Amino acid sequence: MHTIVLGAGVIGVATAWYLRECGCDVTVIEREPDVALATSFGNAGVIAPGYVTPWAAPGMPAKILKYLFKPASPLIFRPTFDAAQWRWIARWLRECDIERFRVNKQRMQRIAYYSRECLHAFRAQHPFDYARSDGYLQLFRSEYDVEFAQPALAVLRDAGIAHREVSAAECAQIEPGLRWARQQPVSGLYLPDDEAGDCARFTRELRAHCEAHGVRFRFDTRVTGLDVQRGAVRGVYVESASGKETLTAGAVVVAMGVDSAALLAPFGVKVPLYPVKGYSATLAVVDDEKAPRAALMDESLKTAITRFGPNLRVAGTAELGDRRATLREQALQTLMKVLDDWFPHAAAPSSAQFWVGHRPMTPDGAPLLGPSGVDRLWLNVGHGSTGWAMSMGSGRVVADLVTQRVPEIDLDGLTLARYGRSRSSQR
Ligand SMILES: Cc1cc2nc3c(=O)[nH]c(=O)nc-3n(C[C@H](O)[C@H](O)[C@H](O)COP(=O)(O)OP(=O)(O)OC[C@H]3O[C@@H](n4cnc5c(N)ncnc54)[C@H](O)[C@@H]3O)c2cc1C
Repeated sequence: MHTIVLGAGVIGVATAWYLRECGCDVTVIEREPDVALATSFGNAGVIAPGYVTPWAAPGMPAKILKYLFKPASPLIFRPTFDAAQWRWIARWLRECDIERFRVNKQRMQRIAYYSRECLHAFRAQHPFDYARSDGYLQLFRSEYDVEFAQPALAVLRDAGIAHREVSAAECAQIEPGLRWARQQPVSGLYLPDDEAGDCARFTRELRAHCEAHGVRFRFDTRVTGLDVQRGAVRGVYVESASGKETLTAGAVVVAMGVDSAALLAPFGVKVPLYPVKGYSATLAVVDDEKAPRAALMDESLKTAITRFGPNLRVAGTAELGDRRATLREQALQTLMKVLDDWFPHAAAPSSAQFWVGHRPMTPDGAPLLGPSGVDRLWLNVGHGSTGWAMSMGSGRVVADLVTQRVPEIDLDGLTLARYGRSRSSQR
């Protein structure tokens, strides 16, 4: 069956890989000249299934209010006249209660753990370097932040996930570069089984494997619409330097990140995706001893610092209300402050390469996998702040569904059915 995958971020390329493994004839359409040039490009690279967490959490609205007017803040909010923004916020607020948090977190963990299994199985068969590291250390700046982390800790305990609550001194044993920090954390949380790696580099390598196995990529080609007739998708309208075309397909998978919602809306497929802007800085390490070894998260400022071989990346900030790709000084300053607080001598600030991306966020945090409600049109969207961590599992699940196989995990709560919208059968 000829299957078209729309979008060549980490989600689209992972989907293409598994579709090919299931025997499909696969074409990937991407408007950029290569894979992973949008949100998958500059992310923090953390794969922490034990700690994937919905942003809609108990106490989060109060925390947001607290940070809203501080100069160094993990959040920037620009109120707009966009009704979608307010609808999304209203839904997000409804998800902040403890019971919803638990349900949403468990859903996210289910796909993230499965994804790690798929990644490890893939890596065992196709080893390549993507600057990976093991372990994930969370740093708490205040008792308030330790308190705030309690519901998430309870979920870790209940689920039997390996973790250690560690003192400031133990943090510095795990990450010796912290001995040169300008301040001490009040405590930390260590997840030894979590890992990190360069998502864009991985996606480029995966593209090469896909091509070696017969997947076709069409770059510099923009998807302009879907050919839907009598409730079923027949193909895709595209535009490139050679003009406009209609490509026919037996199945289409939408994996266009934040742009997926606009493509789907004309067909009554309403996915509550909202772009939440994030920033990163990539710097060359100048002093190995004073630099991080793996991935850390400043839990208070929600900013990650990750080691990628000779470089490190600082990533964070959630900015609501700006769909443009402009860099905002306040966000960049927060990134550089976090780096300077914890690893002041690790890298030269002048070497920073700044980047901005838009997380495709659902209000409750879990992605939308599988049926769209239009026959033969499938979703692999809404991975928000943890798309790299969920990529291989999501690709595998969607490929299984497209090819009529039964996915290896329960999809309850991971499909459009949770919003009561899909006309197709749901698992
Ligand atoms: C600051 C930041 C830090 C993050 N840190 C982490 C992390 O540590 N761990 C983690 O797991 N996740 C992290 N994420 C989230 C992760 O990056 C995303 O969830 C993931 O990249 C989403 O992948 P995607 O393939 O859905 O989207 P994208 O990578 O955006 O891919 C979508 C593709 O579709 C293409 N496209 C869109 N419209 C069209 C069209 N009309 N025609 C053709 N092509 C089109 C785009 O060009 C793009 O290449 C972070 C995100 C940000 C912003």
